[in-house]
Amino acid sequence: MDAMHRFDPALEELAAAVFAFARRRAGADAGPGGVTLGRPQSPEALDASAGRTITAAGIGAWQALRLFTEVLEPACLSTDFPRYLAFVPAAPSEVSILADLVVSACSIYGGSWLEGSGAVWAENQALRWVADLAGMPEGAGGCFVSGGTNGNLSALVAARNAAAAALAADGRPRPARWAVVVCDGTHSSVAAAADVMDADLILVAGDRLTGEALRPALAGEAERVAAVVATAGTTNLGLVDDLEGVAAACQEADVWLHVDAAYGGAALVAPSARWRFAGIEHADSLVVDPHKWLFAPFDVCALLYRNPVLGRAAHVQHAAYLDVLYGDAWNPSDYAVHLTRRARGLPFWFSLAAHGTDAYTEAVEACLALARETADLVRASDHLELVAEPELSVVAFRRTGWSGEDYVAWSDRMMAAGEAFVVPSSHGGEPMLRLCVVNPRTTIDDMRLIADSLR
Ligand SMILES: *Cc1c(COP(=O)(O)O)cnc(C)c1O
Repeated sequence: MDAMHRFDPALEELAAAVFAFARRRAGADAGPGGVTLGRPQSPEALDASAGRTITAAGIGAWQALRLFTEVLEPACLSTDFPRYLAFVPAAPSEVSILADLVVSACSIYGGSWLEGSGAVWAENQALRWVADLAGMPEGAGGCFVSGGTNGNLSALVAARNAAAAALAADGRPRPARWAVVVCDGTHSSVAAAADVMDADLILVAGDRLTGEALRPALAGEAERVAAVVATAGTTNLGLVDDLEGVAAACQEADVWLHVDAAYGGAALVAPSARWRFAGIEHADSLVVDPHKWLFAPFDVCALLYRNPVLGRAAHVQHAAYLDVLYGDAWNPSDYAVHLTRRARGLPFWFSLAAHGTDAYTEAVEACLALARETADLVRASDHLELVAEPELSVVAFRRTGWSGEDYVAWSDRMMAAGEAFVVPSSHGGEPMLRLCVVNPRTTIDDMRLIADSLR
């Protein structure tokens, strides 16, 4: 047998070293000896410190491990560092990370029920929990995909397919151009999906989509609208659209409602925020990213359809070598733009099962409370001003008197010092900062440190 697949007793020692590293790194607190922010390096710097790694004879596993732990990993930002507050950070639970190690070890093909029934069953339990949080009906279902981007694309393709089928059933032609309705707060991945679909975007002005603003946009256009995209937790400001009003307008126009809750959907578990999501139960499709604020490791997005038959109609692949998979089986590969897939929902399921759902409520509420406390801190600081009241866990604010360059210089300085990762964004053409809290390890002292550094 070849050297890669032969059992080698020396592997035991390597395995112990790998497990020890993973254990040390996972869930390490910030502080002396704990997780550090990390620092990006140039390709030249990495060439110099790592050298040539791909060789005919191999550099050996110990050398590869040494390069990873000493050179490569430190050149990656730790998204779970408590003062990594840019974009949407990550804070996977410790048991979800352990489960992720196990998923890799098992070589599970997660695309079909035939090959992965045990894993798919567990993933479906976790999907059902998300569907219940949103109040979706009994028959709702879908699959886990890599992220909100694939989730949005797959949902919008299903929506267009359903609209085309409805037109065909009436003997009417397809529109010359399909369209997707969005607002200013909609995530960039929706525009990217429309681009892939060669569909137009109909832009409704405003940070938040409302039923009132949506109705005139749909007037005369409904025939060519594949879907309206509402956002439950915008990335820039953390706002939740008027889901009830948007759902009513979609129903009147008989248009598919897709709800992008990639970031904000986690707050469905939090009683203090649940009311903001009223109307989400009307979604025809929904995405929530557990790798954002439901404490799962990258990369996992829950994609749900109100009527999974419509998702399957759009995405099922047919081929002689796949026919054995059909019948009544529930195949995750049938519900998105993918075929082979890792059982990426398993670490999320494992942590959810292990800790129970109350632990999720508690952890998400802690982030919401910290965001409110941080907004109070901003209000009380004369050098800072809020851009918007936080609805979820994004705190957006400005440093009075600063130009765009001032923000960039401050952000670069904070990263270089390993203090914090916060990057400038903008709203209404004016630069601003946003702190996105999804890590229960982040404290108000972390926020004070950042506020003080802005003086
Ligand atoms: C993050 C995000 C996305 C994209 O999700 P990925 O997992 O990064 O692909 C889509 N929509 C919203 C609202 C997001 O916050």
